[in-house]
Amino acid sequence: MKLLLTGGAGYIGSHTAVELLNKGYEIVIADNYSNSDPKVLDRIRKITNKDFAHYNCDVANYSEFERVFKEHKIDVVIHFAGYKAVGESVKIPLEYYENNLNATITLLKLMNKYGVENCIFSSSAAVYDSTKNRRLTEDSPLSCTNTYGYTKLMSEQIFKDAARANPKLSIALLRYFNPIGSHESGLIGDNPNGIPNNLLPYITRVAVGKLDKLYIFGNDYDTRDGTGVRDYIHVVDLALGHIAAIDYCLNNKGAIAINLGTGKGYSVLEVVHAFEKASGVKIPYEFTGRREGDTAEYYASPELAKKLLGWEARLDLEQMCASAWKWQKMNPNGYEE
Ligand code: NAD
Ligand code: UDP
Repeated sequence: MKLLLTGGAGYIGSHTAVELLNKGYEIVIADNYSNSDPKVLDRIRKITNKDFAHYNCDVANYSEFERVFKEHKIDVVIHFAGYKAVGESVKIPLEYYENNLNATITLLKLMNKYGVENCIFSSSAAVYDSTKNRRLTEDSPLSCTNTYGYTKLMSEQIFKDAARANPKLSIALLRYFNPIGSHESGLIGDNPNGIPNNLLPYITRVAVGKLDKLYIFGNDYDTRDGTGVRDYIHVVDLALGHIAAIDYCLNNKGAIAINLGTGKGYSVLEVVHAFEKASGVKIPYEFTGRREGDTAEYYASPELAKKLLGWEARLDLEQMCASAWKWQKMNPNGYEE
């Protein structure tokens, strides 16, 4: 069984690559390293002791990407490639639509041309209207507050339309909640450029002394301690969710959206305290105003994933924090030596 991982050098892609190789799958990675470092490929090899094909290519570029399909008979694509920074997406919306939507369309055209029927897509909880419900089921109302979210919602629609037009297609639209943590080796991890936007990478950079303190965006939400509540999921659990989705795709047709989350929400302060406990490092913080577009609280209903994929998250918040800390401590400068 051969899998193509677009964006396979990124944070979630690299963790999924490791789990796939460990389970004996053959993989091909296609990434243009716009938000990753090719050094991650050696780290994946080091962890798994296995080799794989990789292409430095823009998957939104038809002729560049076609080479991969000409040279490999692909059974399943996992489509991670895309830009993902919410704040940046609002500042440069056209680049986000161009990259994320063209990547999806180009991929589907090539899948149709080369008879590849199965695809797993990285969607996001950002497609939900989280002002209405806190516990989000797959049929909760959809609505986006930013361009990034719209690229995911529009991509989902493109996949659904493509699956309606070609009944051979089998598409799992996996809506990730908040992936954090790292592989237990500490050799791969979340490695954002510049100042991190997301909570956990920000906390680990405070812990390692690269940033002074954490700014907590709002302490006046209607939540148990006033700070925002999210469903954090260990990236290794998330990676295993993709493996469960492979079997689902091979046995079902059509396009379906499935949440990947734990079903439990933690507040920002609870994450800070869990991190302090796991690392033994105190995290100085200051409350500031709410961040635009943020909502009080949401978490996944994980039932559909359990029912259809036979998958559920197993690792807890302390394991997520401990592994994120291990990665940051071992790699204070990311993949730079
Ligand atoms: P990431 O930025 O670490 O990985 C994405 C990878 O795609 C990078 O290696 C980047 O170089 C590559 N890429 C981007 N555009 C490309 C193109 N046109 N051609 C080839 N490669 C390209 O992000 P991640 O956190 O691993 O996320 C993976 C996917 O999951 C993304 O689609 C993201 O939007 C989605 N997602 C992420 C989160 C999260 O919190 N990390 C949550 C929900 C959904
Ligand atoms: N957050 C924060 N300070 C930061 C980054 C995030 O207080 O520097 C909060 C944010 O308001 C939200 C939670 O942490 O309540 C998770 O934010 P993140 O950006 O990691 O993920 P999101 O859920 O927004 O996609």
